[in-house]
Amino acid sequence: MSLPPLVEPAAELTVDEIRRYSRHLIIPDVGVAGQKRLKNARVLCVGAGGLGSPALLYLAAAGVGTLGIIDFDTVDESNLQRQVIHGVSDVGRSKAESAAASIREINPLVQVEIHNTALDRENVREIFSQYDLIVDGTDNFATRYLVNDAAVLLGKPYVWGSIYRFDGQASVFWAEHGPCYRCLYPEPPPPGMVPSCAEGGVLGVLCASIGSIQVNEAIKLLTGIGEPLVGRLMVYDALEMSYRKIKVRKDPNCVLCGENPTVTDLLEDYEDFCGAVSVEAQVAVVDSTITALELKEWQDAGKDIFLVDVREPAEYDIVRIPGATLIPKGEIISGEALAKLPQDRQIVLHCKSGVRSAEALAALKAAGFRDAVHVQGGVLSWIKQIDPALPAY
Ligand SMILES: [Zn+2]
Repeated sequence: MSLPPLVEPAAELTVDEIRRYSRHLIIPDVGVAGQKRLKNARVLCVGAGGLGSPALLYLAAAGVGTLGIIDFDTVDESNLQRQVIHGVSDVGRSKAESAAASIREINPLVQVEIHNTALDRENVREIFSQYDLIVDGTDNFATRYLVNDAAVLLGKPYVWGSIYRFDGQASVFWAEHGPCYRCLYPEPPPPGMVPSCAEGGVLGVLCASIGSIQVNEAIKLLTGIGEPLVGRLMVYDALEMSYRKIKVRKDPNCVLCGENPTVTDLLEDYEDFCGAVSVEAQVAVVDSTITALELKEWQDAGKDIFLVDVREPAEYDIVRIPGATLIPKGEIISGEALAKLPQDRQIVLHCKSGVRSAEALAALKAAGFRDAVHVQGGVLSWIKQIDPALPAY
């Protein structure tokens, strides 16, 4: 299915622009008309992280006239392995500002609009309505559903991508012409089921593989060439080096874009909809949560505690809290590791951020370990509050 171009052509290209974009201009399908459409285009990139980095670089180089960047985060050293729009001197700087500076260096003809804020239900309509097309480079389910719902309600197309370890996916969601994200994934996965890249890792170059597909699709939509990935899901496996295309149908029962929609406005709370942790874990942590500072005090006071690190071995190798024994969450949830845990000592669980340890705590309590507690904020809190010299990862 080919679709008409999203954007009308700009009036003209300057001599500078003709020189700069000559390799586009001589492609018959793009030509001067296509380049003028790119010049007139307004594209918003949600997130200047793993996917946003290559996407913004190539959108800028391609001559998209106006690029919006929305990101509230700052550049961290652990971003540099894949977020190639940022450099060493940008660590600590706003990602949106840092990305804007790189774009100006690559192509000063691009107008950059910075939204140095978190996307939420209050600002999403106003921000999205300023753009022709959205490129979604977010890494969490709450924002993904927010992006999808806002795009459908506003009638905007968007190019979606997601990455994890060696696997990537991409598609174009445009309810007017095909399915939306909810047609593909009606419900968010159960909390804790799908780890984020921060928890599970991502091969840096995978960002370029998927980000470049997103830019490719964006250019096709803006200029009206080729067959956009509407109604098709691209699935990439970097280890197999395979690309598969899976047909995605519009779901007539989709609560958002189906025949009888029940979601007719943005949800009140997307975090709530996606649930950071399960209900069991939410119950388990009540009155059973300590801070990193309290853990340190217990250790310094010589309290008899059994400290369990529920992360994965690779994470334990990077950084660990002194005295912690590694027992990955999966072994606790399955019950396999319960015999390793002492009945007569205070058990303290921790993970990287406090999500996995909360799930493990729920499993321990269900198995009768009533006094067990977990550390709020996990290793990251420990590093922040106790030992900033350790590497945050
Ligand atoms: Zn739908």
